[in-house]
Amino acid sequence: MGSKEKALTAAIILAGGKGSRMQSEIPKQYMKINGRPVIYYALEAFSESSVDKIVLVTGNACIDGMDEKTYCIERIIKPYKFEKVIIVTEGGKERYNSVYNGLEALKKHGKVPDYVLIHDGARACITTDLIEKCICEAEKYKACVAAVPVKDTIKISDENGYAVNTPDRNTLWQIQTPQVFEAGLIKEAYERLYNDTTAGNITDDAMVVEHYMDRTVKMTMADYKNIKVTTPEDMDIARIFLKA
Ligand code: C5P
Repeated sequence: MGSKEKALTAAIILAGGKGSRMQSEIPKQYMKINGRPVIYYALEAFSESSVDKIVLVTGNACIDGMDEKTYCIERIIKPYKFEKVIIVTEGGKERYNSVYNGLEALKKHGKVPDYVLIHDGARACITTDLIEKCICEAEKYKACVAAVPVKDTIKISDENGYAVNTPDRNTLWQIQTPQVFEAGLIKEAYERLYNDTTAGNITDDAMVVEHYMDRTVKMTMADYKNIKVTTPEDMDIARIFLKA
């Protein structure tokens, strides 16, 4: 019996945010944790995983006298020999614009992958184990997201800050990345989003697939350590997790 052929996988790693909540002069993805830039850690985990190729999406800032794309190539990709990074492309205004640019860049580059993994570059504590688990689940369910059950009670408030509803905690998940999809599915979902002039606030990729493709997305049990480095205290937490 012949063994199953390995699916071709591509990861889009997002580093196009301005990181305004970090209140730092340089974008947070280039701040150092344990001597290495935040974005180094996601690139390392994906480079060590079974993912075949990586698209890095950057912002358009000027860092150390270089445009951000050049900075990433010269200061991160070349020195750390991240050879799976085949494209470095500029992102857009919102996260979903950056994802779209990453998908478009991938389309123009070689063989179309079977699965696309989308990852927030700010999630520095991602592990290769979780990446592999998400790929396995995507092969089974076509669309999955790394997620953990919420620990706190979550309330919905009105515009004046008064609680109006308390959803059942047992049904609530905190969504992380990677979010992994069959390539055709995520491509079509984003095409539809781009043709929709009424689209609202898009904060992750699963909601694009749920809404425009009418598909359910599977929750893949992830890791509470897979935090998104967003505010200054997250840097301290990530430092501890990454040292361990
Ligand atoms: O803004 P948020 O925290 O949701 O960002 C999640 C990830 O998306 C970060 O890694 C950030 O760099 C990236 N991003 C992007 N382009 C944007 C905004 C955010 O690539 N316009």
